[in-house]
Amino acid sequence: MVYPIYICGSPVLRQVTEDIADRSLVTPELIADMFETMYASNGVGLAAPQIGKNLRLFVVDAASQAEEEPALADFKRTFINPHIYEWSEEEVDSIEGCLSIPGIHETVWRPERIRIRYFDEQGMGHDEEFDGKVARIIQHEYDHLEGKIFTDRISPLRKALLRSKLTAMTKGKYSADYKTRAVK
Ligand code: ZN
Repeated sequence: MVYPIYICGSPVLRQVTEDIADRSLVTPELIADMFETMYASNGVGLAAPQIGKNLRLFVVDAASQAEEEPALADFKRTFINPHIYEWSEEEVDSIEGCLSIPGIHETVWRPERIRIRYFDEQGMGHDEEFDGKVARIIQHEYDHLEGKIFTDRISPLRKALLRSKLTAMTKGKYSADYKTRAVK
């Protein structure tokens, strides 16, 4: 099932998610639906708050980025109760977009490397270091679990320039070629 993507301005995108205590809430169907929703909107990552669910959960499939980084060809993961606990001092910049902020792409600086603990869909615990494109995707999705969106991280000048566009978006003025749910 393809869920509609919640658009910025939706309160659920500003909630900080807690660890999921009841793992039965993360059903195989929910994970499959999150991937299906992500593919339907051509995303490389999707966090549960983006489909209106206050759950500490996101999915990533970076295969479409394999041209840039061949190692990403089979990078498909589910991150349950993730916690980033180490960030590199070195930061790198890249242009980001977000399914919840259609049509907007901006430069964002982020730590180049992170360490993260999480559980996968089988309930296995992991503690891994990521860098490059994957570290960026993970940090972007992780932000959603912390109630943040990437426009929080752009320069004050760019933010000021975007303000009216973002305000219009929260009032339903935007276009997207995938299923969305505007702010009520
Ligand atoms: Zn996003």
